[in-house]
Amino acid sequence: MTSSAHPGTPTNHKAVPLCDIQAQYRALQAEIDAAVLRVLRSGQAILGPEVAAFEQEVAAFCGAQFGVGCSSGTDALILALRALDIGPGDEVLVPPFTFFATASAVCRVGAKPVFVDIDPITFNIDPRQIEGKITRHTRAIIPVHLFGQCCDMDPIWEIADAHQIYVIEDAAQSFGSEYHGRRCGTLGIVACLSFYPTKNLGAFGDAGMVVTNDPNLDRKLRALRVHGSEVKYYHKYIGYNMRLDALHAAVLRVKLPHVPQWLAAREAAAQRYDTLIENANLHGFLRRPVAQPDRRHTFNQYVVRVPPMHRDPLVKYLKDNHIGVEVYYPLSLHEQECFQFLGYRTGDFPTSEEAAKTVLALPMFPEITYEQQYRTIEVCAMYLQKAIRQAA
Ligand SMILES: *Cc1c(COP(=O)(O)O)cnc(C)c1O
Repeated sequence: MTSSAHPGTPTNHKAVPLCDIQAQYRALQAEIDAAVLRVLRSGQAILGPEVAAFEQEVAAFCGAQFGVGCSSGTDALILALRALDIGPGDEVLVPPFTFFATASAVCRVGAKPVFVDIDPITFNIDPRQIEGKITRHTRAIIPVHLFGQCCDMDPIWEIADAHQIYVIEDAAQSFGSEYHGRRCGTLGIVACLSFYPTKNLGAFGDAGMVVTNDPNLDRKLRALRVHGSEVKYYHKYIGYNMRLDALHAAVLRVKLPHVPQWLAAREAAAQRYDTLIENANLHGFLRRPVAQPDRRHTFNQYVVRVPPMHRDPLVKYLKDNHIGVEVYYPLSLHEQECFQFLGYRTGDFPTSEEAAKTVLALPMFPEITYEQQYRTIEVCAMYLQKAIRQAA
C-alpha cells in the first residue's frame, strides 16, 4: 500500500479499503492509456467499432450470441424489459433484497414489481415462494445473482416454463459466475450486466450490457438504445438514449482478458477470509457466506452475517479503525419510501428484513492482500472482546 501522509497527519498504515478500483489501472496503465488515446484520436465517441468489438467479446465470454452495450446496468434492465414488451398492467417478480435498480427498472417501464422473499443461505430469491406470487398478470421473473452467486435456476426455469413467463437475469454482481458449468448471461432469455467500477468487470464510469441468444431481441435492444430507430430519424419504438461510449468500451476491452484471473483472486481471498474467521474462532459471530456446490461464487462481495445487536456497532468500530466495510442493503425494498404505494408492510418478507439487519460486506477486491484481510478480522475480534468486556 502507498501512503500519502501530509506533515502532521498521522499515517494509518493499517487502513484497509472496501474496494481498490485504482489497483487495476495501476497494473494495466500503459495498455489502458493507449486504448484511451486510440479512442481520442479516432474521433468516434459513441458506439462504433470499439463498442461492437467489446459486445462480441463479452457475448463470447458469457457463451452467448449477442451483446448490446448500453449506458449502465440499470439501463440494461430497462432495455431488457422493454424489448420483451413488458409495461403497464404487467407484473414482474423480483426479490426485495437486492440493489434498488432491479425493482425501479420494473417501475420505469410502467410495470409492477411483485416481491418474492429470499433464501436465508444464499440471499437469492427463494424458488419455493415464487409460484404463490404468480397471477395472470405475471410476465417475467428477475433472478438477481447477488454478491456473485447464481440463483437456484433449475426450479426457476421449471416454474417459468410452466407459467410461460420470461426469465431476465440481473447478473450485475456476477459477471463470470456459473451455474451447473454455464456462465451468467445464458441462464435466461436475456441477461443484464453492469460495468459499474466496483463490479467484477468495472469501467471508469457507468456502463452496462444486455446479453441474449435471441436475434429478434438483439435487434430490438439495439433499436431501443438509440431512440427506437433502426434507420436513423425513423422511429419504430419510443426508445431511449442509452448508448455505450467508446472510451468505456476501450478500457473494458483491456480489462476483459484479465477477468478470469481476477475472479480466481476473489475466490482465493474468500477462502482466506473463511480460514481467518475460523482460526480466530469467530465463526459463531461472523457467519460466513455459503457457496453452493453446484455453482461458482465469484465473490463480488464477501458478506458475513452478524447478530443484529452487534451489526451497526461493529460497522462503526471497523470504520473508526479505518477498515472499509459496507452494508448491502440496510433496508429491504418493500420498506423503501418510494415503494409504499405497492402496499407492502414490515413483516411481509421476514428473511429479507432479517438479512437487512445482519449483513456486513468486508473489504473485497482481487488485489486484497493477506495482511489486509488479517487486519480486518483482527479488528472484528477486537470489537468482540470489547463487547464481551462491556457486557461483563
Ligand atoms: C449495480 C447493480 C445494478 C445496476 O447497475 P448500474 O450499472 O449501477 O446501473 C442492478 N442490479 C444489481 C443487483 C446491481 O448490483
